[in-house]
Amino acid sequence: MEPGASEAQTNSVINYIHDLGMKTVVNRGVIQTVIAAIGESSKYSTEQFETLDGVRKVERIQVPFKLASRDSHHNDTIVSINNDIKFGGNNPPVVIAGPCSVENEENLLAIARIAKESGAKMLRGGAFKPRTGPRMFEGLGKLGLEYLDAARKETGLAVVSEIMDPRDIDLVCEFTDMLQVGARNMQNFTLLNEVGKTNKPVLLKRGLSATVEEWLLAAERIMDKGNNNVILCERGIRTFDNKYTRNTADIAVIPLIRRLSHLPVIFDPSHATGKWNLVSPISKAAIVAGAQGLIIEVHPNPEKALSDGPQTLNFKNFKQLMKEIQILVSVLGTVNVSN
Ligand code: PEP
Ligand code: MN
Repeated sequence: MEPGASEAQTNSVINYIHDLGMKTVVNRGVIQTVIAAIGESSKYSTEQFETLDGVRKVERIQVPFKLASRDSHHNDTIVSINNDIKFGGNNPPVVIAGPCSVENEENLLAIARIAKESGAKMLRGGAFKPRTGPRMFEGLGKLGLEYLDAARKETGLAVVSEIMDPRDIDLVCEFTDMLQVGARNMQNFTLLNEVGKTNKPVLLKRGLSATVEEWLLAAERIMDKGNNNVILCERGIRTFDNKYTRNTADIAVIPLIRRLSHLPVIFDPSHATGKWNLVSPISKAAIVAGAQGLIIEVHPNPEKALSDGPQTLNFKNFKQLMKEIQILVSVLGTVNVSN
């Protein structure tokens, strides 16, 4: 409360809190009174209390993302894909590789074979692409999903692809092992609700300019609908500087998320940098920082890719990176990266 708040103002705030079904503990100091509100407060914004007469400041002590928070779930959540691939905990980082967009079957199969050979466990590829310009390549849709399915059958790699529209949920679920919610849709609340009602693991990318709390609240929404298999993916955020990089790679958020949440967190070096020659160093940095997986764009001819070529690795560079990651992981086995 404000230093000069009256007894009547204090009592009225206490009553307001009680009317919302919460209890109070009141600490009357010489100069100021502090009221603790105890109970189910995640429905209310702090601002709502700041409008009351005599209130100086309102601070939330508990995080609003209860289900996603480590406070309520101490142990790491392991997200399994087909009871086989495991993200999170002390499992070695899982690499997901593939083109930005599925372009044709031959090209996808060639990429999938290289991914498999090099030790990646999952194949990525967009069939529904979010594009800023309305006349850019927006993906092959269902046909793209069928190509992913064919690559999955041939190589045994599990598949992840982006879902943009709640109306496509059944279709995308049919052909994939994990649903990707892209950065642009991190706050598409209808989509989050719908993927939350499925039992498919969800790869939730951080929004272009989402705060950590907004990102975790998006995860919270999926979990609140019943789906606890959420993997968080940092993919770079927008800052003031996009002259040399597409985004700013927020590496520090990886150990931060591992503290705040029990959910697995992976890193996307391709979108985080936008430059193929930054992908390898920043991938290794992410693993050292505790990333529990990587999602990397790979293409046989990045210069000919229909989307995101400049940030895409060719086969040679991808294979080299995979070798280096293996060495790194074996060294890191003895180090606690989250501390
Ligand atoms: C992608 O993975 O190709 C993609 C569009 O990612 P983001 O949503 O992170 O931009
Ligand atoms: Mn892309």
